[in-house]
Amino acid sequence: MRQVAFYGKGGIGKSTTQQNTAAALAARGNQIMVVGCDPKADCTRLLLRGHRQQSVLDTIRELGDAENVTLDRVITPGYGQVKCVESGGPEPGVGCGGRGVITAIQTLERLGAYEEELDYVFYDVLGDVVCGGFAMPIREGYAEEIYIVCSGEYMALFAANNISKGVKKFAERGYARLGGLICNSRLVENEFELVQAFAQKLNTQLLHFVPRSKDVQRAEINKKTVLDYDEALPQAQEYLTLAEKIEDNDRFDIPTPMSQDELEDLMRSYGIVD
Ligand code: ADP
Ligand code: MG
Repeated sequence: MRQVAFYGKGGIGKSTTQQNTAAALAARGNQIMVVGCDPKADCTRLLLRGHRQQSVLDTIRELGDAENVTLDRVITPGYGQVKCVESGGPEPGVGCGGRGVITAIQTLERLGAYEEELDYVFYDVLGDVVCGGFAMPIREGYAEEIYIVCSGEYMALFAANNISKGVKKFAERGYARLGGLICNSRLVENEFELVQAFAQKLNTQLLHFVPRSKDVQRAEINKKTVLDYDEALPQAQEYLTLAEKIEDNDRFDIPTPMSQDELEDLMRSYGIVD
């Protein structure tokens, strides 16, 4: 069982890319569980064709005790039989989101969710930086393989660089490793070359360049992953290719984050900032 987490700047496309990739891995014959770790509980919507999965934390609150929770209440099978879970979060402004995520994961574990024949567990983690609460899936030894979703935009690379600082700390202590960057294109000039050079500086690889496509949004409006919406679309093939690259990936690195100046120099040399 491989346990994978996607990190990246908010709005970069983590949940979209993760669900599309999970669908593609399922179509390739893998058994998958997706654990949404965003208090918004929007990480499995496409896999579940719009069904809103009640979160683990809400279920615990409703039943009054984690002891009363059963797996069938918190896991719903979605496209390709992907097991969909939402951890949920604390009441807004109360408590730590990361602690809630771990309570949810531990509840799943206690109920035997990890004992089934799973090939992959995906954690869709909120947050620009691997800090505090949202590093929990790594710190507690669940997420071992990290992919950073970015684009060629400055803020996305800035966030990716910060995330790699967090991953480095955990990697040095023997926890997670960086599996690579996934560039979710924002149609920035020289984007592929820039992100590839950025990956090299970070001692990692650009695993896949996902093109920007209106079909992603068309599928989303229809509450589906692209593969579920129309498997003949070129974008569906992109996610199948990304899934294959994840399956075949054998490169797991300790990242070497850049300094602020180095990052700005890199962007300047690709004509992104002047
Ligand atoms: P995050 O989970 O990182 O906050 P989301 O996955 O919710 O981000 O994505 C934000 C928006 O970007 C979504 O509305 C989605 O449709 C859009 N999006 C993501 N990837 C692509 C893509 N490759 N092409 C076009 N739109 C995309
Ligand atoms: Mg998200």
